Amino acid sequence: MPGTRLARLEHALARRLPFRRAPMRKARPVVSFTFDDFPLSAATHGAPLLERAGGRGTYYVASGLLDTATEHWQVAGPDVVRDLHARGHEIGLHTHSHRPLPEMRMAAFEADLANNRATLHRLVPDLADTTFAYPFGLTGIAHKRRIGRHVPASRSIQPGINRGSVDLDFLLAHELIDAFLSPAEVSALIDDTSRNGGWLIFFSHDVSDRPGPFGVSPGLLTHAIAEAGRNDLAILPVRQALDHFGLA
Ligand SMILES: [Zn+2]
Repeated sequence: MPGTRLARLEHALARRLPFRRAPMRKARPVVSFTFDDFPLSAATHGAPLLERAGGRGTYYVASGLLDTATEHWQVAGPDVVRDLHARGHEIGLHTHSHRPLPEMRMAAFEADLANNRATLHRLVPDLADTTFAYPFGLTGIAHKRRIGRHVPASRSIQPGINRGSVDLDFLLAHELIDAFLSPAEVSALIDDTSRNGGWLIFFSHDVSDRPGPFGVSPGLLTHAIAEAGRNDLAILPVRQALDHFGLA
C-alpha cells in the first residue's frame, strides 16, 4: 500500500470516524460490482458479463490516467467512458491524479477533485450525483469530512458487508480478485448477504484470463454474477443501490 506511515496512521483514525451515518432501509439484498482506475478490459470483458445478467457496474475513473498504459494494464479512454455511461453503467469519481488523499493538502485535493469532475463532465452529462472511491482506499480525517460535501457516498477498500447503519463516507467493499478470493469465498459472501440482508460491494481492476495482481478473471466474475442470480440479489451500481436502501 502506498502512503507514508503517517498517512496510514491518519487513515486508520479516519476510517473509524463516521461523519455521516445513515440507516439502511430493509430491502432486497444487493451486490455492486465496481472497477477502479479503470482498465480497458473492465469495460470490454467485464461490462458484457454484467449486462447479460441484467446488471450494471460502477466504474471509478481517475481522469488523469485516461488512455494511458500503466505497469499492469491499458487504461480505458474517453470514448469507452462515454459508451459505458450510455449503456447505463455508473461513472464514478476517483480523483484526477490518483494520489493518496492523506498526502494531499485540502486545497490541492479540492482542485484535483474538481478537475476529475470537470473532465468527466465533458464526457458524460449527468455526473452531479455520482459516487467516489478513495485512491488506494486511503483517506485522511479532513478529506473524509470534506468529500461528504461533494458526493452522496464514498467507497473504501475495507472488507465487510454493508448492513444496518452505514458510514456513507466509507462504504465497505471486498476485493474481487483471483489472487485473493476463491470461488467458494465469493459464494460464502453472497450467501451471507442473501441470508442476512445487506449490500455487498465488490471492487476489482482488470478483467482478464490472466489477471494482474489486482484483477479478476472472467471465470470468477461470472461465478459471482451467477451466484448473485441464484441467491436473488439485485445487481446495482453504487449510486442506484443508495436509492434502493434509502441512503440518498
Ligand atoms: Zn485506483
